Amino acid sequence: MTCCRRFRLTAAVVVALICGLVACGSERGGQSRSTASAGAVAAAGGSAAPPPCPGAPVDVAVSVDQWADIVSQLGGACAQVKTVLVSSSVDPHDYEPSPRDAASFSGARLIVVNGADYDPWASKLAAISAPVAPVVSAAEVTRTADGANPHLWYSPSAVTAVADAVSAELSKIDPRMQAYFTGRRSAFSTTLQPYTRLIDTIKVHAAGKSYAATEGIFTYMADALGLVNKTPQGYQQAAASESDPSPADLQAFLDALAGHRIDVLIYNPQTEGSIPDQIRVAAERANVPVVTVTETVPQDQTTFAGWQDTQLTKLAKALGVPL
Ligand SMILES: [Zn+2]
Repeated sequence: MTCCRRFRLTAAVVVALICGLVACGSERGGQSRSTASAGAVAAAGGSAAPPPCPGAPVDVAVSVDQWADIVSQLGGACAQVKTVLVSSSVDPHDYEPSPRDAASFSGARLIVVNGADYDPWASKLAAISAPVAPVVSAAEVTRTADGANPHLWYSPSAVTAVADAVSAELSKIDPRMQAYFTGRRSAFSTTLQPYTRLIDTIKVHAAGKSYAATEGIFTYMADALGLVNKTPQGYQQAAASESDPSPADLQAFLDALAGHRIDVLIYNPQTEGSIPDQIRVAAERANVPVVTVTETVPQDQTTFAGWQDTQLTKLAKALGVPL
């Protein structure tokens, strides 16, 4: 039920209706997850388990699961990573923390948040529960202003900047483990090689091709790939201001698809409301390829790299990029 801001009202109504039927109120609470080490995650992702920790593992709290696997990989066996918002059924934009979420931050020696007004609750809880812990904010390390597109995990340069910042902070917390964390940082780069290769390949073969998106989550990546955003302006502005598009803006989108003025449609299935679905159906009717891109880590994915590789591979195929 994760949705993006623009359809928040519709989503709230749907949640209210469903919760009225099945009394699911408590499921909106945070679902934190602890990862003893990246071993399990790395093993599931097919890469080698990290070496044992030469010292005492550092407690790290991460606000949302989009960044959690990255932090787990960087900490390896020397980090105990707790993720506050794991469930892909909760909308991170509108999340209201529960009292037990404050406990997730207590004792943490490093906090990792997205920032850009995506998870403001996390910084507030961290300031109360772990006031001396350094905070790595994706928005700050990439100098993204509040109110800008917060979907920073879709920015390859933000991923690198966050990885560097987390790695540096971990080493500062316990300098005796610096060599270990440096090793994990380069292992993470190795894990990201297929992701980096896919980005390079798509850029070489498909830069200049056009896309439109039901929502702005993929914008940073699309820019990095050199794709041209042909989402009708009015629709985009409505999305950015969290309102539904006017009938004319929606029609402009449907016409662009029917007229084959768009090479690929980027569709987020986690958005509530009938409008994205209507756009997807129009694309399918016009034989415009549709690539599914999700806001949060889908349930069938265990690693950031696996999640991104799957989506980028589908995008490459949709754009006719030879792999
Ligand atoms: Zn979003």
